[in-house]
Amino acid sequence: MFRKILIANRGEIAVRILRACRELGIRSAAVFSEVDRKSLHVRLADEAYPIGPAPSRESYLCIDKLMDVARRAGCDAVHPGYGFLAENAALPRACTDAGLTFIGPPADAMESLGAKTAGRQLARRVDVPTVPGTNDPIEKLAEAQSLAHSMGYPVLLKAVAGGGGKGMRVVDGDAEFESAFRDASSEAMNAFGDDRLYLEKYLDRPHHVEIQIFADAHGRVVSLGERECSVQRRHQKVIEEAPSPIITPDLRKKMGDAAVRLARAGGYVNAGTVEFLVDANLNFYFLEVNTRLQVEHPVTEQVTGLDLVKLQIAIAAGHRLPFAWESITPRGHAMEVRLYAEDPDNNFFPSPGKIISRQVPSGPGVRLDDGVYEGWTVPNDYDPLLGKLIAWGNSREETIARLRRALEEYTVTGIKTNVGLFRRILVEPDFLRGEMHTRWLDELLRRPRSAASPADQNQTGNSPSDAAAIAAAIWQASQWDRHACLSCSSADQPSRWKLEGRRAQLDRLP
Ligand code: ADP
Repeated sequence: MFRKILIANRGEIAVRILRACRELGIRSAAVFSEVDRKSLHVRLADEAYPIGPAPSRESYLCIDKLMDVARRAGCDAVHPGYGFLAENAALPRACTDAGLTFIGPPADAMESLGAKTAGRQLARRVDVPTVPGTNDPIEKLAEAQSLAHSMGYPVLLKAVAGGGGKGMRVVDGDAEFESAFRDASSEAMNAFGDDRLYLEKYLDRPHHVEIQIFADAHGRVVSLGERECSVQRRHQKVIEEAPSPIITPDLRKKMGDAAVRLARAGGYVNAGTVEFLVDANLNFYFLEVNTRLQVEHPVTEQVTGLDLVKLQIAIAAGHRLPFAWESITPRGHAMEVRLYAEDPDNNFFPSPGKIISRQVPSGPGVRLDDGVYEGWTVPNDYDPLLGKLIAWGNSREETIARLRRALEEYTVTGIKTNVGLFRRILVEPDFLRGEMHTRWLDELLRRPRSAASPADQNQTGNSPSDAAAIAAAIWQASQWDRHACLSCSSADQPSRWKLEGRRAQLDRLP
């Protein structure tokens, strides 16, 4: 096992990783830019090293500086978190050159699966359905336009190097194709230094459903089930949950098999996510592979009982995935909201500043993964994600009721946050029925709010639907076999012997 891990990140994900290190008895070395000197990840790490000024190009994105710290601190592994360099193959290559273990996939697998058009090509080769469109970057604008015309509008122009919704434009007709192309490619150039675009059919109100995969270095690849991420604002996830309200056991198996096939074909190792869009007829289409830990990994942790960061570390250290994990099925339901320092009344503009006071939720089924504290100043220089609030319950209804209760307990003063947005979403009838799609939230936000909207009412009063949720939760709890933590897939009834065996396997993990 590793002695000391360099955490090449900041904020809540750096805190999440160093907590895993602490539990495993591994020392953690944090890095920080000038504005992050007093950040929570610096306070909690065993050691912390400055790496330059606030702009990430001069600090968190400098591979040379990170390698220098790793050498000086005597680290033997590097965890990239998500964002920054997490999907840049130059980091695993630099780690290999420096004799360090990269906690993530090999550089080649990152390139063959992570680049959007390369991922599409590989998916087609292994019979994973893709959204109709081009599999190579567009070379001639006229050819792309005529393909768009024959596929039928709307279409979506997307950046080959894309991420975070940047370099993406919906095109509704021939007339706007050329200007959308120019806008998208210059945005892609600014964001990624790469202006290449490709084209996809713009699906009508799909669900975004993704599969968490894990692969070890000994040839075993498993699916840990799906996450539903359809509640999005401008194509960016806002709420995630597991399991998905629309996925049947049969579809879960098909999507899981497709994801595993793709990971195998790409020589993948460690944690990854295969993203799909699912249409109204439950057809699924490959979107992209994220070759790293996802922001929303806690919902999978809550329903599987696994610690994905510890598992990443174990796989990077050469451990095998225990066989039984292939048959894990989700237990209960988990949901996450992304808490941002932003102002919903001002077009969700970032709201950095000093956190004057803060009260955080707790109690049954509530988890808060954040990277802030009272008195700390949220800097202007990075993504203003404060953290993630996650609820777990026996049923989707109980989970939503818990999340609402937790959001009522959560207060922050000094900065604006998007908490009010979740209070609004979590009482919407479509949401409660699980009938959201990727444009649902944008459509909701365009609708004027009525004065008597349920979210405006006293949040502490229980409505009839709350009462139903409570009754359902009590019934479910009474049915619950408290030993049935992990259960077998399909119709196979788990015996106590098998369950205890599996628990022992989990216990043996580092
Ligand atoms: P990025 O990597 O920039 O986040 P993705 O390819 O992951 O981009 O897509 C982000 C979101 O954009 C998806 O979850 C979905 O809401 C929307 N989207 C992407 N491609 C399509 C498509 N072909 N049709 C409809 N919506 C799409």
